[in-house]
Amino acid sequence: MGYRDEVASHDDDQSHDHFARIVVTGAIDAGLEGNAAVGALLASPDGDVLLAERNRMFVPRFRSDYHAEMVLLSQYEDQHQSSDLREHTLVTSLEPCEMCMIRIINSGVSNVLYVAADVGKGGITGPNKLAPHWARLAASQEFAAADCGKRLAEIALDAFMSTIGGVTDKLLARRLPEPGG
Ligand SMILES: [Zn+2]
Repeated sequence: MGYRDEVASHDDDQSHDHFARIVVTGAIDAGLEGNAAVGALLASPDGDVLLAERNRMFVPRFRSDYHAEMVLLSQYEDQHQSSDLREHTLVTSLEPCEMCMIRIINSGVSNVLYVAADVGKGGITGPNKLAPHWARLAASQEFAAADCGKRLAEIALDAFMSTIGGVTDKLLARRLPEPGG
């Protein structure tokens, strides 16, 4: 059974399983499209899914900023001039990277949940501390692992890991060759 079917048929036992299934499905789709396999969604204070997006860095055209969270927040902010994300929740299939962490902090969204941790590499569990002004802003936001099935987290991470090598190769191919290479 493919990951997409397995995610679709996963029982929603835990409080964030519904959100997790949506972002992990988005991640799988992003990977199939030739992008890094990461998905994200934005939920209202009542828990309604307002928008779901996915990484679009290479397809349909190259956008170096188009991580899933960036696509999601750009779309939301374009559509809502007075975008107020208090009590809203942003959910990602993978712990946000450092670029996306800063964007998420600037957006003011109250809650951030990630399905899979990117242990030691992400913007939350990674090696770098936030500068004081970012930390001051982030203090009013909640960052946490989603309460979801372990299998969904495994699939989220595996989908990402199966695409990141190809994505890095494509980024390397856009650079000058290494000296003597
Ligand atoms: Zn990112």
